[in-house]
Amino acid sequence: MISVEEALKIILQESHVLEGEEKDILSCLNKILADDVYSRDNLPPFDKSAMDGYAIKSEDTDLYEDGISINLEVVDLIKAGESSNKELINGQAMKIMTGAPLPKGANAVIQIEKVKVHEDILYISENVKNGFNVIKLGEEIKVGDMALKKGTLIRPTEIGILASLGYSKIKVHRDPIIAIITTGDELVDLNETPKFGQIRNSNEYSLKALVLNLGLEALSLGIVEDKKDTLKNKVKEALEKADIVITSGGASVGDFDFVEQVLNEINADIKFQSVAIKPGKPISFAVIDKKLFFSLPGNPLSAITTFEEFVKPACEKMLGKNMESDNNFPVILAEDFKEKEGRRKYIYVNIKAENRKLYAYKVGSQSSNQLITMSKANGIIIMPEGIKYKRAGEILNGKFIFK
Ligand code: AMP
Ligand code: MG
Repeated sequence: MISVEEALKIILQESHVLEGEEKDILSCLNKILADDVYSRDNLPPFDKSAMDGYAIKSEDTDLYEDGISINLEVVDLIKAGESSNKELINGQAMKIMTGAPLPKGANAVIQIEKVKVHEDILYISENVKNGFNVIKLGEEIKVGDMALKKGTLIRPTEIGILASLGYSKIKVHRDPIIAIITTGDELVDLNETPKFGQIRNSNEYSLKALVLNLGLEALSLGIVEDKKDTLKNKVKEALEKADIVITSGGASVGDFDFVEQVLNEINADIKFQSVAIKPGKPISFAVIDKKLFFSLPGNPLSAITTFEEFVKPACEKMLGKNMESDNNFPVILAEDFKEKEGRRKYIYVNIKAENRKLYAYKVGSQSSNQLITMSKANGIIIMPEGIKYKRAGEILNGKFIFK
Protein backbone atom coordinates (compact mmCIF):
# COMPACT_ATOMS: atom_id res chain seq x y z
CA MET A 1 0.00 0.00 0.00
CA ILE A 2 1.38 3.41 -0.97
CA SER A 3 0.52 6.94 0.10
CA VAL A 4 -1.80 9.26 -1.79
CA GLU A 5 1.18 11.46 -2.74
CA GLU A 6 3.22 8.55 -4.10
CA ALA A 7 0.22 7.27 -6.07
CA LEU A 8 -0.40 10.69 -7.57
CA LYS A 9 3.26 11.12 -8.44
CA ILE A 10 3.30 7.81 -10.32
CA ILE A 11 0.06 8.63 -12.14
CA LEU A 12 1.32 12.04 -13.25
CA GLN A 13 4.63 10.55 -14.41
CA GLU A 14 2.70 8.23 -16.69
CA SER A 15 0.21 10.86 -17.94
CA HIS A 16 1.43 12.75 -20.99
CA VAL A 17 0.06 15.92 -22.51
CA LEU A 18 -1.89 14.96 -25.63
CA GLU A 19 -1.24 16.43 -29.08
CA GLY A 20 -2.90 19.59 -30.36
CA GLU A 21 -6.10 19.51 -32.37
CA GLU A 22 -7.78 22.37 -34.26
CA LYS A 23 -11.29 23.18 -33.06
CA ASP A 24 -13.94 25.90 -33.30
CA ILE A 25 -13.20 28.47 -30.65
CA LEU A 26 -16.40 27.79 -28.69
CA SER A 27 -15.48 24.10 -28.43
CA CYS A 28 -12.19 25.19 -26.85
CA LEU A 29 -13.81 26.55 -23.69
CA ASN A 30 -11.85 25.28 -20.64
CA LYS A 31 -9.24 23.60 -22.87
CA ILE A 32 -5.56 24.49 -23.03
CA LEU A 33 -4.03 26.33 -25.94
CA ALA A 34 -1.45 24.17 -27.76
CA ASP A 35 0.20 26.97 -29.82
CA ASP A 36 0.97 30.65 -29.25
CA VAL A 37 -1.61 32.93 -30.88
CA TYR A 38 -0.39 36.18 -32.49
CA SER A 39 -2.43 39.25 -33.23
CA ARG A 40 -3.43 39.71 -36.86
CA ASP A 41 -4.69 43.23 -36.24
CA ASN A 42 -4.22 46.34 -34.19
CA LEU A 43 -6.81 46.55 -31.44
CA PRO A 44 -8.48 48.93 -31.71
CA PRO A 45 -7.83 49.23 -35.45
CA PHE A 46 -8.26 53.06 -35.30
CA ASP A 47 -8.30 55.82 -32.67
CA LYS A 48 -11.80 55.57 -31.27
CA SER A 49 -14.10 57.40 -28.93
CA ALA A 50 -14.66 55.82 -25.51
CA MET A 51 -17.80 57.90 -24.90
CA ASP A 52 -20.84 59.42 -26.50
CA GLY A 53 -19.81 63.08 -26.75
CA TYR A 54 -18.03 65.62 -28.90
CA ALA A 55 -14.68 65.20 -30.64
CA ILE A 56 -12.59 68.36 -30.23
CA LYS A 57 -9.09 69.76 -30.35
CA SER A 58 -8.14 69.80 -26.67
CA GLU A 59 -6.10 72.99 -27.07
CA ASP A 60 -9.34 74.84 -27.85
CA THR A 61 -10.26 74.44 -24.18
CA ASP A 62 -6.89 75.73 -22.86
CA LEU A 63 -8.32 79.22 -22.56
CA TYR A 64 -11.23 78.17 -20.38
CA GLU A 65 -11.40 80.10 -17.14
CA ASP A 66 -14.03 79.96 -14.42
CA GLY A 67 -17.40 81.19 -15.57
CA ILE A 68 -16.67 81.81 -19.24
CA SER A 69 -17.37 78.79 -21.42
CA ILE A 70 -15.62 77.93 -24.67
CA ASN A 71 -17.87 77.90 -27.77
CA LEU A 72 -17.27 75.50 -30.65
CA GLU A 73 -19.24 74.98 -33.84
CA VAL A 74 -20.65 71.43 -34.28
CA VAL A 75 -19.88 70.48 -37.91
CA ASP A 76 -20.66 66.75 -38.18
CA LEU A 77 -22.13 63.66 -36.52
CA ILE A 78 -20.19 60.38 -36.47
CA LYS A 79 -21.97 57.09 -35.73
CA ALA A 80 -20.16 53.90 -34.67
CA GLY A 81 -19.25 52.02 -37.85
CA GLU A 82 -18.98 55.22 -39.90
CA SER A 83 -16.41 57.99 -40.19
CA SER A 84 -16.30 61.69 -41.05
CA ASN A 85 -14.66 62.78 -44.28
CA LYS A 86 -14.04 66.23 -42.79
CA GLU A 87 -10.95 67.33 -40.92
CA LEU A 88 -11.59 69.11 -37.64
CA ILE A 89 -10.12 72.59 -37.37
CA ASN A 90 -9.77 74.94 -34.42
CA GLY A 91 -13.09 76.26 -33.22
CA GLN A 92 -15.00 73.17 -34.37
CA ALA A 93 -16.39 69.99 -32.78
CA MET A 94 -18.08 66.88 -34.12
CA LYS A 95 -20.72 64.89 -32.28
CA ILE A 96 -19.38 61.35 -31.91
CA MET A 97 -20.81 58.07 -30.59
CA THR A 98 -18.98 55.48 -28.48
CA GLY A 99 -16.81 53.26 -30.68
CA ALA A 100 -16.79 55.63 -33.67
CA PRO A 101 -13.42 56.59 -35.21
CA LEU A 102 -12.04 59.91 -34.12
CA PRO A 103 -12.09 62.40 -37.02
CA LYS A 104 -8.86 63.75 -38.44
CA GLY A 105 -7.63 66.74 -36.45
CA ALA A 106 -9.40 65.78 -33.20
CA ASN A 107 -7.46 64.59 -30.15
CA ALA A 108 -10.05 64.36 -27.36
CA VAL A 109 -13.72 63.66 -26.65
CA ILE A 110 -15.81 65.41 -24.05
CA GLN A 111 -18.80 63.48 -22.75
CA ILE A 112 -22.32 64.56 -23.67
CA GLU A 113 -23.22 64.91 -19.97
CA LYS A 114 -20.56 67.59 -19.47
CA VAL A 115 -21.55 70.08 -22.18
CA LYS A 116 -24.42 72.28 -23.31
CA VAL A 117 -25.50 72.58 -26.94
CA HIS A 118 -27.72 75.22 -28.49
CA GLU A 119 -28.31 75.61 -32.22
CA ASP A 120 -25.14 73.75 -33.27
CA ILE A 121 -22.98 75.64 -30.80
CA LEU A 122 -21.22 73.53 -28.17
CA TYR A 123 -20.47 75.15 -24.79
CA ILE A 124 -17.61 73.60 -22.79
CA SER A 125 -16.84 74.66 -19.24
CA GLU A 126 -13.60 72.84 -18.43
CA ASN A 127 -10.08 72.22 -19.66
CA VAL A 128 -9.95 68.97 -21.62
CA LYS A 129 -6.68 67.08 -21.78
CA ASN A 130 -5.16 65.79 -25.02
CA GLY A 131 -6.19 62.13 -25.40
CA PHE A 132 -9.16 62.40 -23.06
CA ASN A 133 -11.74 59.62 -23.81
CA VAL A 134 -9.75 58.41 -26.82
CA ILE A 135 -8.70 54.78 -27.14
CA LYS A 136 -5.58 54.84 -29.27
CA LEU A 137 -4.98 52.60 -32.29
CA GLY A 138 -3.19 49.42 -31.09
CA GLU A 139 -3.56 50.41 -27.43
CA GLU A 140 -4.78 46.91 -26.48
CA ILE A 141 -2.57 44.93 -28.85
CA LYS A 142 -0.53 45.57 -32.01
CA VAL A 143 -0.21 43.49 -35.20
CA GLY A 144 2.29 40.67 -34.63
CA ASP A 145 2.23 40.84 -30.81
CA MET A 146 1.58 37.63 -28.92
CA ALA A 147 -2.08 37.65 -27.89
CA LEU A 148 -2.29 34.32 -26.04
CA LYS A 149 0.56 32.13 -24.91
CA LYS A 150 0.66 28.37 -25.41
CA GLY A 151 -0.60 26.77 -22.18
CA THR A 152 -3.29 29.40 -21.59
CA LEU A 153 -6.60 28.16 -20.22
CA ILE A 154 -9.35 29.20 -22.65
CA ARG A 155 -12.00 31.01 -20.63
CA PRO A 156 -14.84 33.18 -21.96
CA THR A 157 -12.38 36.13 -21.99
CA GLU A 158 -9.96 34.28 -24.28
CA ILE A 159 -12.85 33.28 -26.59
CA GLY A 160 -13.65 37.00 -26.88
CA ILE A 161 -10.01 37.85 -27.66
CA LEU A 162 -9.86 35.17 -30.36
CA ALA A 163 -13.11 36.44 -31.89
CA SER A 164 -11.87 40.03 -31.91
CA LEU A 165 -8.69 38.92 -33.68
CA GLY A 166 -10.66 36.95 -36.27
CA TYR A 167 -9.69 33.44 -35.21
CA SER A 168 -12.59 31.02 -35.69
CA LYS A 169 -10.44 27.95 -34.98
CA ILE A 170 -7.42 27.37 -32.75
CA LYS A 171 -5.30 24.45 -31.62
CA VAL A 172 -5.88 23.04 -28.15
CA HIS A 173 -4.66 19.80 -26.59
CA ARG A 174 -7.15 17.12 -27.54
CA ASP A 175 -9.45 15.45 -25.03
CA PRO A 176 -8.42 12.08 -23.68
CA ILE A 177 -10.87 9.34 -24.65
CA ILE A 178 -12.09 7.63 -21.51
CA ALA A 179 -13.67 4.19 -21.57
CA ILE A 180 -15.73 2.96 -18.64
CA ILE A 181 -16.30 -0.73 -17.91
CA THR A 182 -18.67 -1.60 -15.09
CA THR A 183 -18.25 -5.04 -13.55
CA GLY A 184 -20.56 -7.00 -11.30
CA ASP A 185 -23.01 -9.91 -11.67
CA GLU A 186 -25.31 -8.18 -9.19
CA LEU A 187 -25.83 -5.15 -11.41
CA VAL A 188 -28.88 -4.29 -13.49
CA ASP A 189 -29.45 -1.17 -15.55
CA LEU A 190 -31.54 1.62 -14.04
CA ASN A 191 -34.60 0.80 -16.16
CA GLU A 192 -34.75 -2.76 -14.85
CA THR A 193 -36.29 -3.96 -11.60
CA PRO A 194 -33.58 -5.60 -9.50
CA LYS A 195 -34.38 -9.14 -8.37
CA PHE A 196 -33.45 -10.20 -4.86
CA GLY A 197 -29.68 -9.83 -4.50
CA GLN A 198 -29.38 -7.43 -7.41
CA ILE A 199 -28.77 -3.66 -7.35
CA ARG A 200 -28.94 -0.95 -9.96
CA ASN A 201 -25.73 0.07 -11.68
CA SER A 202 -25.19 3.55 -10.29
CA ASN A 203 -21.44 3.79 -10.87
CA GLU A 204 -21.70 3.82 -14.64
CA TYR A 205 -23.81 6.95 -14.36
CA SER A 206 -21.85 8.72 -11.63
CA LEU A 207 -18.56 7.96 -13.45
CA LYS A 208 -19.96 9.28 -16.73
CA ALA A 209 -21.11 12.38 -14.87
CA LEU A 210 -17.64 12.82 -13.36
CA VAL A 211 -16.15 12.64 -16.86
CA LEU A 212 -18.73 15.14 -18.17
CA ASN A 213 -17.91 17.40 -15.23
CA LEU A 214 -14.35 17.63 -16.62
CA GLY A 215 -15.76 18.74 -19.97
CA LEU A 216 -14.96 15.32 -21.48
CA GLU A 217 -17.01 12.52 -22.97
CA ALA A 218 -17.06 8.96 -21.71
CA LEU A 219 -17.26 5.89 -23.84
CA SER A 220 -19.29 3.40 -21.87
CA LEU A 221 -18.76 -0.26 -22.61
CA GLY A 222 -21.63 -1.32 -20.36
CA ILE A 223 -21.92 -3.93 -17.64
CA VAL A 224 -19.54 -6.88 -17.79
CA GLU A 225 -20.30 -10.08 -15.92
CA ASP A 226 -17.79 -11.38 -13.39
CA LYS A 227 -16.09 -13.81 -15.80
CA LYS A 228 -12.39 -13.48 -16.41
CA ASP A 229 -12.40 -14.01 -20.17
CA THR A 230 -15.36 -11.72 -20.78
CA LEU A 231 -13.67 -8.99 -18.77
CA LYS A 232 -10.37 -9.58 -20.57
CA ASN A 233 -12.02 -9.12 -23.97
CA LYS A 234 -13.75 -5.93 -22.85
CA VAL A 235 -10.52 -4.55 -21.43
CA LYS A 236 -8.73 -5.26 -24.71
CA GLU A 237 -11.53 -3.58 -26.66
CA ALA A 238 -11.40 -0.57 -24.33
CA LEU A 239 -7.61 -0.27 -24.67
CA GLU A 240 -7.94 -0.17 -28.45
CA LYS A 241 -10.45 2.66 -28.31
CA ALA A 242 -9.38 4.84 -25.39
CA ASP A 243 -6.48 6.70 -23.78
CA ILE A 244 -7.77 5.94 -20.29
CA VAL A 245 -9.68 2.84 -19.24
CA ILE A 246 -11.62 2.80 -16.00
CA THR A 247 -13.17 -0.28 -14.48
CA SER A 248 -15.59 -0.16 -11.59
CA GLY A 249 -15.73 -3.09 -9.18
CA GLY A 250 -14.00 -6.43 -9.14
CA ALA A 251 -10.98 -4.70 -7.69
CA SER A 252 -10.57 -6.58 -4.42
CA VAL A 253 -9.66 -10.11 -3.45
CA GLY A 254 -13.07 -11.80 -3.73
CA ASP A 255 -13.48 -15.07 -5.65
CA PHE A 256 -15.01 -13.16 -8.57
CA ASP A 257 -12.75 -10.10 -8.61
CA PHE A 258 -10.84 -10.61 -11.85
CA VAL A 259 -9.31 -7.25 -12.68
CA GLU A 260 -5.87 -8.08 -11.30
CA GLN A 261 -5.72 -11.44 -13.09
CA VAL A 262 -6.77 -9.82 -16.36
CA LEU A 263 -4.08 -7.15 -16.00
CA ASN A 264 -1.47 -9.83 -15.45
CA GLU A 265 -2.64 -11.87 -18.43
CA ILE A 266 -2.41 -8.90 -20.79
CA ASN A 267 1.09 -8.08 -19.43
CA ALA A 268 0.05 -4.73 -18.04
CA ASP A 269 2.68 -2.80 -16.12
CA ILE A 270 0.90 -2.66 -12.75
CA LYS A 271 2.19 0.40 -10.88
CA PHE A 272 0.29 -0.01 -7.62
CA GLN A 273 -2.59 -2.04 -6.23
CA SER A 274 -3.75 -0.19 -3.18
CA VAL A 275 -3.47 3.29 -1.72
CA ALA A 276 -3.71 4.41 1.90
CA ILE A 277 -6.93 6.30 1.37
CA LYS A 278 -10.39 5.87 2.88
CA PRO A 279 -12.67 5.49 1.04
CA GLY A 280 -10.95 3.85 -1.92
CA LYS A 281 -8.09 1.60 -0.77
CA PRO A 282 -8.41 -1.12 -3.46
CA ILE A 283 -7.63 1.25 -6.35
CA SER A 284 -5.01 -0.01 -8.73
CA PHE A 285 -3.22 1.66 -11.59
CA ALA A 286 -1.48 0.13 -14.57
CA VAL A 287 0.02 1.19 -17.89
CA ILE A 288 -0.44 -0.77 -21.11
CA ASP A 289 1.26 0.66 -24.25
CA LYS A 290 1.10 4.21 -22.86
CA LYS A 291 -2.62 3.78 -22.09
CA LEU A 292 -3.64 4.36 -18.48
CA PHE A 293 -5.74 1.83 -16.64
CA PHE A 294 -7.53 2.62 -13.39
CA SER A 295 -9.31 -0.14 -11.52
CA LEU A 296 -11.69 1.68 -9.19
CA PRO A 297 -13.43 0.03 -6.25
CA GLY A 298 -17.12 -0.80 -6.75
CA ASN A 299 -18.45 0.95 -3.68
CA PRO A 300 -20.11 4.10 -4.99
CA LEU A 301 -18.41 6.54 -2.60
CA SER A 302 -15.02 4.90 -3.18
CA ALA A 303 -15.46 4.99 -6.96
CA ILE A 304 -16.27 8.72 -6.91
CA THR A 305 -13.52 9.60 -4.43
CA THR A 306 -10.81 7.71 -6.29
CA PHE A 307 -11.94 9.16 -9.63
CA GLU A 308 -11.63 12.67 -8.24
CA GLU A 309 -8.29 12.07 -6.51
CA PHE A 310 -6.54 9.98 -9.17
CA VAL A 311 -8.31 9.86 -12.55
CA LYS A 312 -9.11 13.57 -12.70
CA PRO A 313 -5.47 14.72 -12.28
CA ALA A 314 -4.43 12.32 -15.08
CA CYS A 315 -7.10 13.81 -17.38
CA GLU A 316 -6.05 17.33 -16.48
CA LYS A 317 -2.40 16.61 -17.18
CA MET A 318 -3.29 15.08 -20.58
CA LEU A 319 -5.33 18.18 -21.38
CA GLY A 320 -2.21 20.27 -20.70
CA LYS A 321 -3.54 21.90 -17.53
CA ASN A 322 -1.22 23.43 -14.95
CA MET A 323 -0.84 20.81 -12.21
CA GLU A 324 0.83 23.05 -9.65
CA SER A 325 -2.19 24.69 -8.05
CA ASP A 326 -3.50 23.17 -4.87
CA ASN A 327 -7.18 23.73 -4.15
CA ASN A 328 -7.00 22.73 -0.47
CA PHE A 329 -7.64 25.30 2.22
CA PRO A 330 -7.80 25.26 6.03
CA VAL A 331 -11.22 24.45 7.51
CA ILE A 332 -12.16 24.80 11.19
CA LEU A 333 -13.98 21.79 12.61
CA ALA A 334 -17.41 22.80 13.92
CA GLU A 335 -17.72 19.46 15.74
CA ASP A 336 -15.45 16.70 17.07
CA PHE A 337 -14.43 14.22 14.34
CA LYS A 338 -13.49 10.67 15.26
CA GLU A 339 -12.27 8.10 12.72
CA LYS A 340 -10.45 4.77 12.70
CA GLU A 341 -6.70 5.24 12.87
CA GLY A 342 -4.66 4.27 9.80
CA ARG A 343 -5.28 5.38 6.23
CA ARG A 344 -5.80 9.00 5.22
CA LYS A 345 -9.51 9.71 5.55
CA TYR A 346 -11.51 11.87 3.16
CA ILE A 347 -14.51 12.87 5.28
CA TYR A 348 -17.50 14.25 3.40
CA VAL A 349 -18.81 17.34 5.20
CA ASN A 350 -20.75 20.51 4.75
CA ILE A 351 -18.39 23.48 4.61
CA LYS A 352 -20.04 26.74 5.64
CA ALA A 353 -18.66 30.26 5.83
CA GLU A 354 -19.36 31.99 9.11
CA ASN A 355 -17.80 35.29 10.18
CA ARG A 356 -15.41 35.08 7.24
CA LYS A 357 -14.10 31.67 8.34
CA LEU A 358 -14.88 28.23 6.93
CA TYR A 359 -16.33 25.56 9.22
CA ALA A 360 -16.89 21.83 8.62
CA TYR A 361 -20.13 20.17 9.77
CA LYS A 362 -20.90 16.45 9.77
CA VAL A 363 -23.41 15.12 7.24
CA GLY A 364 -23.78 11.47 8.29
CA SER A 365 -22.26 8.01 8.02
CA GLN A 366 -19.06 7.85 5.98
CA SER A 367 -19.63 4.23 5.01
CA SER A 368 -18.42 3.80 1.45
CA ASN A 369 -21.78 2.66 0.08
CA GLN A 370 -23.56 5.84 1.23
CA LEU A 371 -24.12 8.18 -1.68
CA ILE A 372 -26.92 9.82 0.31
CA THR A 373 -24.30 11.13 2.77
CA MET A 374 -22.23 12.54 -0.06
CA SER A 375 -25.26 14.26 -1.48
CA LYS A 376 -25.61 16.27 1.74
CA ALA A 377 -21.95 17.32 1.53
CA ASN A 378 -20.38 20.15 -0.44
CA GLY A 379 -16.82 19.37 0.56
CA ILE A 380 -14.34 17.08 2.25
CA ILE A 381 -11.90 17.45 5.08
CA ILE A 382 -8.78 15.33 5.13
CA MET A 383 -7.83 13.51 8.33
CA PRO A 384 -4.12 12.63 7.93
CA GLU A 385 -2.90 9.05 8.22
CA GLY A 386 -2.34 7.90 11.80
CA ILE A 387 -4.67 10.48 13.34
CA LYS A 388 -8.02 9.35 14.65
CA TYR A 389 -9.38 12.28 16.57
CA LYS A 390 -9.74 16.00 16.05
CA ARG A 391 -11.72 18.29 18.33
CA ALA A 392 -14.09 21.09 17.46
CA GLY A 393 -12.05 24.25 16.87
CA GLU A 394 -9.07 22.39 15.43
CA ILE A 395 -8.12 22.83 11.78
CA LEU A 396 -7.86 20.33 8.93
CA ASN A 397 -7.23 20.80 5.22
CA GLY A 398 -10.36 20.63 3.11
CA LYS A 399 -11.76 21.40 -0.28
CA PHE A 400 -15.04 21.72 -2.13
CA ILE A 401 -16.07 18.68 -4.15
CA PHE A 402 -16.67 18.46 -7.91
CA LYS A 403 -14.91 21.76 -8.54
P1 AMP B 1 -16.70 -4.81 -5.75
O1 AMP B 1 -15.64 -3.74 -5.82
O2 AMP B 1 -17.04 -5.38 -7.07
O3 AMP B 1 -16.34 -5.84 -4.74
O4 AMP B 1 -18.00 -4.08 -5.22
C1 AMP B 1 -18.06 -3.49 -3.94
C2 AMP B 1 -19.46 -3.04 -3.61
O5 AMP B 1 -19.89 -2.03 -4.52
C3 AMP B 1 -20.51 -4.12 -3.70
O6 AMP B 1 -21.44 -3.93 -2.65
C4 AMP B 1 -21.15 -3.87 -5.03
O7 AMP B 1 -22.46 -4.37 -5.08
C5 AMP B 1 -21.10 -2.39 -5.14
N1 AMP B 1 -21.03 -2.03 -6.55
C6 AMP B 1 -20.16 -2.54 -7.45
N2 AMP B 1 -20.35 -2.02 -8.67
C7 AMP B 1 -21.37 -1.15 -8.54
C8 AMP B 1 -22.03 -0.31 -9.46
N3 AMP B 1 -21.68 -0.26 -10.74
N4 AMP B 1 -23.05 0.47 -9.00
C9 AMP B 1 -23.39 0.41 -7.69
N5 AMP B 1 -22.79 -0.35 -6.79
C10 AMP B 1 -21.80 -1.16 -7.19
MG1 MG C 1 -17.97 -6.97 -7.89
